[in-house]
Amino acid sequence: MRLILLGPPGAGKGTQAQRLVDKYGIPQLSTGDMLRAAVKAGTPVGLKAKAVMEAGELVSDAIVNAIVAERFDQPDCANGFILDGYPRTLAQADAVQAMLSERHAELDAVIELVVDDKILLQRIAERAEKAKAAGQPVRKDDDPTIAPERLREYYKKTAPLTGYYYAKGMLESLDGMADVDTVTAAIEGILGKVVKAA
Ligand code: AMP
Repeated sequence: MRLILLGPPGAGKGTQAQRLVDKYGIPQLSTGDMLRAAVKAGTPVGLKAKAVMEAGELVSDAIVNAIVAERFDQPDCANGFILDGYPRTLAQADAVQAMLSERHAELDAVIELVVDDKILLQRIAERAEKAKAAGQPVRKDDDPTIAPERLREYYKKTAPLTGYYYAKGMLESLDGMADVDTVTAAIEGILGKVVKAA
């Protein structure tokens, strides 16, 4: 199963991806998590990405494509993966297509979580509050001064991907405002059809 979860920051992609990991036994590939790990470890990629991420902007396609290509070749991706937060630009969407073709693999589904912008900013603020209350570090880009920039980046650069995948006949859009279990059930309904058709 090779799946892309699309949707703006705070749409619930990460939460849903984690649930699918357990059910399908395939890894969640979150480029945000990979980049945060690189920043924490102080790798060359991390050093380049840090300021861009903290400003709520997108890291360059070249950097992100390279880390994903490397990840695809790890053994746990042999049976598939859930892409969470990647691709985020049309160039990344072309790159993922090329990476899969090289590996004689195909995407099974692209699922978009559709959410209300005002709620997104609220959810991001809540995530920051929860982390703070739990004594965990708060993501700099969850700060209310930065989160709107992430949303702008989404509309400028990522939203066109829905048209890209729609044109390929692959896009399935779901109401991401529904409660978490309802969204999971809807995703599983789509994936059930994909598995049966394969
Ligand atoms: P996320 O955890 O998915 O919200 O990602 C956090 C930040 O990492 C984003 O705001 C970007 O700065 C960077 N990032 C994550 N994924 C990508 C991507 N596919 N392309 C470019 N930048 C990314």
